[in-house]
Amino acid sequence: MTTAPIVPAPVTVRVPAKVNLELLVGPRRDDGYHHLATVFHAVSLYDDVTVSVADEWGVSVSGPLAAGVPLDGKNIAIRAARLLASRYDVDPVQVDIRKGIPVAGGMAGGSADAAATLVGLDHLFDLGLGREELEEVGAELGSDVPFLVAGGTAVGSGRGELLAPVLARGTYHWVFALGEGGLSTPAVYAECDRLRGDEDVPEPVANPALMAALRSGDPHELAPQLANDLQDAAISLRPALGDVLASGMEFGALGGIVSGSGPTVAFLVEDNEAGIDLAVALTASGAVRDVRRASGPVHGAHVLQRRVD
Ligand code: ATP
Repeated sequence: MTTAPIVPAPVTVRVPAKVNLELLVGPRRDDGYHHLATVFHAVSLYDDVTVSVADEWGVSVSGPLAAGVPLDGKNIAIRAARLLASRYDVDPVQVDIRKGIPVAGGMAGGSADAAATLVGLDHLFDLGLGREELEEVGAELGSDVPFLVAGGTAVGSGRGELLAPVLARGTYHWVFALGEGGLSTPAVYAECDRLRGDEDVPEPVANPALMAALRSGDPHELAPQLANDLQDAAISLRPALGDVLASGMEFGALGGIVSGSGPTVAFLVEDNEAGIDLAVALTASGAVRDVRRASGPVHGAHVLQRRVD
């Protein structure tokens, strides 16, 4: 009698979005990337990514935010799976993504799916890869991928992929105003370069006052330290973002910032209650299409459940 090979049970990984508390953009490097000094912060908007053994590579995307995500080999989750397969003993997989992170919103949704896929395959095939190794493979896929494996709050240098943890106290509450459609990250960097013209751009260094604010755990101290060098470029491409920022501040946010390359705008609020108030006010004013409340820091990509049939 022959026995059927044991097929491992599907693995579901939950992965957060990120907001950059500080995003300092330095000079353009020879490889086309910019030198960055950034402080990543993982927040509780999640994609859930399920990986299962399949006859061929495949990807599906579901949820209200699924529009605009490629369903072929261009999907970064499938690229992550294939990259891992080129190095380790990995069979073809089906990757099913449930999107809770805005697409092309400056919150690293694609990078999050890549990070979740790497963590999922590590579990599915018992590869025994450590976090460091997963972060290393992730860096080949995109600058934000290692942080979405790690989570929490961390300083990123290089092109953002070199991580160092930050000592941060407390939980911060956020309201995210989602944009109408996405913004292309390369287009926003190009606009940043255009606006800077011949200006001499110094090497970026993370701001010690921001680190001190994070140690304090006080959102009032953090709010004035939020900074994003891509904000002017994002507003230049999408002027309505300036109005969204002004509305949020008028309705009581402690601080507001374009998230990464935008067009999502992140508002820091005092507590959960203030988050509800701001979300209601922004929605009622008609200033934004859609809002999400979240808190951070949260863990990076982590296994949610392993289905046992
Ligand atoms: P970042 O903040 O890292 O610059 P972003 O949040 O602005 O990125 P993403 O949501 O990662 O943007 O999407 C950027 C583009 O990547 C999308 O427009 C889409 O075409 C493509 N893409 C490929 N795979 C995915 C995925 N799994 N999820 C979302 N977008 C994907």
